[in-house]
Amino acid sequence: MASKKYVYFFGAGKAEGDGTQKALLGGKGAGLAEMTNIGLPVPAGFTITVEACAYYDSHAGRWPPGLEREVRQQLSRLEKTCGKKLGDPGDPLLVSVRSGAARSMPGMMETILNLGLNDQSVVGLANTTGDPRFAWDAYRRFLQMYSTVAVGLSKEVLEDKLQQLKERLGVRYDHEIPADSLQGLCTQFKSFFREQTGSDFPQDPWEQLVGAINAVFRSWNAEKAVTYRRVEKITDLKGTAVNVQQMVFGNLGDDSGTGVCFTRDPSTGENIFYGDMLINAQGEDVVAGIRTPIKLTELAERMPAIYDQLCAVRAMLEIHYGDMQDLEFTFERGRLYMLQCRTGKRTPAAAFQIAVEQASAPLMSQAEARRLARAGYLPERYVARAAKPVITTDQAIQRITREDIERLFYPVISPAIPPEQLAARRLTQGINAVPGAACGKVVFNAADAETLAAQGEPVILVRKETSPEDVGGMQAAKGILTQTGGKTSHAAVVARGWGKCCIVGCDALKIDYQARQLSVNGTIIRQGDFLTLDGSTGVVYRGRLELEVPKPPKEFFTLMSWADRRRRLRVRTNADTPEDAARAVEMGAEGIGLCRTEHMFFATRERQLAIQEMILAESTEARKAALDKLLPYQREDFVGIFEAMAGRPVTIRLLDPPLHEFLPRSPEQAEELSRATGIPMQVIQHRVEQLHEANPMLGHRGCRLCITYPEILDMQVRAIIEAAATVKQRGLKVHPEIMIPLTIDARELQILVDRTRATADAVLRERGVKLEYQVGTMIETPRAAVMADQMAQVAEFFSFGTNDLTQMTMALSRDDAGRFLPDYCSPTKTGIFREDPFVSLDREGVGTLVFIGVDLAREANPKLKIGICGEHGGDPESVKFCHRIGMDYVSCSPYRVPIARLAAAQAAIEDDLQRGKSRRSRPTAGSRRPVAKRGSGRKASHRRSGRR
Ligand code: PEP
Ligand code: MG
Repeated sequence: MASKKYVYFFGAGKAEGDGTQKALLGGKGAGLAEMTNIGLPVPAGFTITVEACAYYDSHAGRWPPGLEREVRQQLSRLEKTCGKKLGDPGDPLLVSVRSGAARSMPGMMETILNLGLNDQSVVGLANTTGDPRFAWDAYRRFLQMYSTVAVGLSKEVLEDKLQQLKERLGVRYDHEIPADSLQGLCTQFKSFFREQTGSDFPQDPWEQLVGAINAVFRSWNAEKAVTYRRVEKITDLKGTAVNVQQMVFGNLGDDSGTGVCFTRDPSTGENIFYGDMLINAQGEDVVAGIRTPIKLTELAERMPAIYDQLCAVRAMLEIHYGDMQDLEFTFERGRLYMLQCRTGKRTPAAAFQIAVEQASAPLMSQAEARRLARAGYLPERYVARAAKPVITTDQAIQRITREDIERLFYPVISPAIPPEQLAARRLTQGINAVPGAACGKVVFNAADAETLAAQGEPVILVRKETSPEDVGGMQAAKGILTQTGGKTSHAAVVARGWGKCCIVGCDALKIDYQARQLSVNGTIIRQGDFLTLDGSTGVVYRGRLELEVPKPPKEFFTLMSWADRRRRLRVRTNADTPEDAARAVEMGAEGIGLCRTEHMFFATRERQLAIQEMILAESTEARKAALDKLLPYQREDFVGIFEAMAGRPVTIRLLDPPLHEFLPRSPEQAEELSRATGIPMQVIQHRVEQLHEANPMLGHRGCRLCITYPEILDMQVRAIIEAAATVKQRGLKVHPEIMIPLTIDARELQILVDRTRATADAVLRERGVKLEYQVGTMIETPRAAVMADQMAQVAEFFSFGTNDLTQMTMALSRDDAGRFLPDYCSPTKTGIFREDPFVSLDREGVGTLVFIGVDLAREANPKLKIGICGEHGGDPESVKFCHRIGMDYVSCSPYRVPIARLAAAQAAIEDDLQRGKSRRSRPTAGSRRPVAKRGSGRKASHRRSGRR
């Protein structure tokens, strides 16, 4: 049997792997392979797979059988490709050894550069480059990285030695240290190594390589990497790949450099080539944010040929990947090399602008593409495509995520604050790395940030620069402020991934970690003082400024209109007030799918008292008297809601109060009720005892109340229909749908539907108004779901109440399960559920009941309108499920309406893709409703025998 392949080569225009193999080669390895395959200038190398790391991890640091042989073979292939040998004393091949997991974990794992240098080859490097300073600096860096990363010696001690040397020489930057001083520093580093380890620094390049590979394998489980994975909820990865690649040097003089860029602006989404770079610098200098970099536009002026090569690469990558890319590049003595490419992180507003522009406008003009082709940088086959949109509108819709939408509504500083007040509070300004505003108490280290945030305090984390060790605190903070760094610094990249407000490169800050304070031009801010950050402008304000939710960019509306044309599922909202209803319409709601009438009685104390009086009433007369008080409130609210919905359908659910939610909870409340209603205290106490239920969620609630006390139904139906008649008489359209909750039986439903119709028709006759209305039911008990065919013959619509349906199917209390449900959802503890079933529909269990309900109902009554109004109506995966099983609509809270609209469109696109007939970019209006189809494709085998 052939042994498993652990090492994949790339170089000289061909790679053994490709971009699809992220799980095996890691993101970096797959990107390098793909870039090599499409003809970009990538230094040659090889990738050791994630599987090798996983083996190392689970076999006490041993390499899997065959790995050593493969690494030796691929190394000699690399040496042949480069025409140099690792560690050769005359003209050495040097390599970098870098980590790269399947998902980006910026700066969390290790890298070793310049491997292959030793006491002989450093001399060879000095001779071949003609630059001894460069060669000794390279050796110094390698000694430093290898000693700390591979052997675990103190970073601080070596860094101190370097600092002391610079102080002695009176220089600021590393590149100002002359060759002989660097040579002396190398000797010091080697002595330190010997002192600490008892052996000489390894001179054998193979030994160096093995040590570096092992260090990268081990860094997978370094504390910072583990924390990052915890914070980012990365649970599905087995390890990191290791990339061994020929070194190219950005620090070989002023015609060399290194940089990080994005094919579009990651903050705004604008179609410009955006990046930071450093001339005469190596490796991580840009990402580490230690020196403040120059802009790519400056490169265009200083080295137009390099800039044009980069522009060609930009076009090739956007065309190839169809998405904005984040690139790392180095140019060595005027020649460009690509070191990394991956999908770029972006702000939410940028996500929309990029998706919309990529689907509707070209990256560059045809003339520009031609110019790059004539210069020999852009291959001819890319020229026409560079001047066309790189994706379809369907792809744009699929690209956007629920988080992109949620983050769009992140806060900004209230525009109502007068400009003079803002100016007076202005402390300083840095680089606007991630937009949105944040306000909180200043802390100066990650641990304090975590502690204070855990106490519920808003926190602003202030650091000179952040490092991977800080991620826990960065996550806990509302905003991040750093003194150094550019838009691609660690702080900016990590914060952008989370959409968290971040300002970097704020040079004016003088931070004193020991005293836990910062100062700006004499103003002192101490730990615990408030700061407000405006991540969109980079301005830092003293104190606490009011924040508010912004208006989304125009591309949001464009993309949502594409989604609306693409989806079949309708999207309604759950709203109980005219204000919520109006907000939901702004968000694109096409109707109300659930108006919970009992919520209307929480609004004021007066209303609460009136409903308590109704619930406590001992006789029909007393109850009717209380109901008469409630009627005008309800009618008024319904008028407001009908008007706000302007003719869109409005589903109003009859009262569904678990009684415990409405009874007086304390003697004081009971006394207040007694005073307000004149009911004696003893009567109230007696009635509260009488009404006490052991299981109120399974008690006298929902439609059961109206079976016992039909006068409640009479009042509510009267209020609904009177309000509808009033609105209609004002010349507006109105579509009321009356919904009966918590039904368990068709006969029960029939009794209530008959009563509803009798009352409604009587009101219409009284008012002399003609009006269409519908009567339907919620399906939120398992019995109703499995008897759906019978229920469907009585109802005109169904709305699945999946909150209660989940509660009852799983016997999990909605109110109490939070105490132990996390154990069920924790992937490390039990992994019983992938997600909280009250958040994302349990498609296998509860979903099967819903599926059965839809299927039975449609057969019995093909015209039946079916929707969902449980919390799941705003969860993308649950929405997609509703689409697949042929529902007509979902209903969710106003802010989640756009999420549901998008998910519904994505479901329709996925459907088409599965059928293998994706219509490129041409949305069609509301296609036919599919027949209920269970996710598993299992035949409907649920029919009760003998019933059809
Ligand atoms: C439901 O049970 O899913 C529902 C929407 O009703 P409520 O949450 O009001 O019980
Ligand atoms: Mg319910």
